[in-house]
Amino acid sequence: MRKAALVLLVACLFLVVTDIGKAAAPINVPPSLMLHSHSAEFLPEFLDLISQEGYTTITYRDYAEALSCRLPQKKYIIISIDDFGPNGITPSLRTMTEELKKRDMVAVIGLITGRLDAESWNYLSELEKAGFEIASHTLNHSYLPGLSSNTLKEEVLGSSNVISEHLAKPVSLILPYGGFDQDKRIIEAAQNAGYKFIVGISGGEQVDETSNIYYVGRESPNIKSAKKTLVILEERFATQNNGRCKFQFSVKKKL
Ligand SMILES: [Zn+2]
Repeated sequence: MRKAALVLLVACLFLVVTDIGKAAAPINVPPSLMLHSHSAEFLPEFLDLISQEGYTTITYRDYAEALSCRLPQKKYIIISIDDFGPNGITPSLRTMTEELKKRDMVAVIGLITGRLDAESWNYLSELEKAGFEIASHTLNHSYLPGLSSNTLKEEVLGSSNVISEHLAKPVSLILPYGGFDQDKRIIEAAQNAGYKFIVGISGGEQVDETSNIYYVGRESPNIKSAKKTLVILEERFATQNNGRCKFQFSVKKKL
């Protein structure tokens, strides 16, 4: 992925130089796919397809580094895989990460930090070294809007602390069940824990450069067709820069 980061850096430098003097506008989020452990069969064909179509995989961590410039959106794609952890690194999850690695691709791993053994942490550490991002998917995979404020904070901050003990401090909080409801407590807890992205399911096709935390959305795969999945992703994330990012605006307003 360091290769991907270098490409982004070069793209940034070029775009910063050519963009001087233009007003800031919301930036499109790259097409973002949400996978789970049962997506192992779907993945190889999809990865071959995005490779043929000229996409480079990046993570939210990469994207954060590139936010000061306008990315040529269609070149990048973010793949996330949720629900790592509760049963260790299962054979299916291992297959999925190996399929990515052998194509020199990366993904965002949504980690439920509850009960992980040393072997799992070692595996995750290797993934991180290969450019994968290890994101928090909370301690226990609870629906956050339904929790008491103290438990919610513990799920959000506690999982960040656990990951930080073993790996890089996480920058992305992946919401269990996509549960958000624009709950101010989630936003505050995520900000206090130092996250940069709240990752959900719907909305969040653009981010506002002036915000210090972003809500970003994802799309599920069409499990029968890699091609259809890519078409859906391209349509969903092809939002025009119309000078206004409604979702970010409403999140900020609630603060
Ligand atoms: Zn989940």
